Amino acid sequence: MDPLIITVAGVGAELTLDQQPNLPITPEQVGEDAARCEAAGASIYHLHVRDREGAPTMSVSAFSEASDAIRSRSNLIVQFTSGGAVTDPEADRIAPLDLRPEMASLTTGTVNFGTDVFWNPPGLVERFYRRMRELDIVPEFEIFEPGMIANAVAVSGQADHHLHFDLVLGVPGAMPAWEDSVPFLVGHLPSGSSWSATGIGRANIPVAEQAIELGGHVRTGFEDVRYLGPGEPAASNAQLVDRVAGLARERGRALATPGQARSLLGLDASAGTLTR
Ligand code: ZN
Repeated sequence: MDPLIITVAGVGAELTLDQQPNLPITPEQVGEDAARCEAAGASIYHLHVRDREGAPTMSVSAFSEASDAIRSRSNLIVQFTSGGAVTDPEADRIAPLDLRPEMASLTTGTVNFGTDVFWNPPGLVERFYRRMRELDIVPEFEIFEPGMIANAVAVSGQADHHLHFDLVLGVPGAMPAWEDSVPFLVGHLPSGSSWSATGIGRANIPVAEQAIELGGHVRTGFEDVRYLGPGEPAASNAQLVDRVAGLARERGRALATPGQARSLLGLDASAGTLTR
């Protein structure tokens, strides 16, 4: 099996400082969080940013500062969100791509999201995908429902890049983390693609265990999970990464360095450049 890529989604758009006082907010905090997560075994940082008050923002300058802070302190692949918060308009969600991160997330369908709707109609998906490819950004297709796999395949057509998927399970309103959810979705991915899985909340660990055993990769972090166990809040993102790294060690699965992750995902060592 390939070495395990651990993605840390350290910030997100939902969690508040009241809920998690250790949520990284400033560029310096995000950079230091990234360095600690790299030391714990992560190789990708899935990035959302906050303003100085801690509110989610899609400000291009905030993405610039945070990604610079990560790159100056770690070798992690920086993956921007293009989802933002569910209320962000399309123009705000697409703007930070101008900074040419190595990767960006791309959700390929509309889905209920708690009491909200996460809007990703076909035209938006196509515009986001085209913009990413113009800028040599490798998308990570975020799959909340089976139909989104077909949508990702349709939009990427004769793709000239490696296809990578993230299976997101357990968002209230979307596909639950049933026992057969991961194997079912993986069975419908295009051959040759790679995948990670993200279990939301209490699904984080069972989904991570399945992904490790099936040869996939894993995402964790405060965006996805707040607790280490019942009534036991995680102290840091690095602690959540370390827990996944421990599950991999128990199963004899090596961890990918950021360099190994770049080669598995078809990224060049230099940011924003594809290996062809
Ligand atoms: Zn996100």
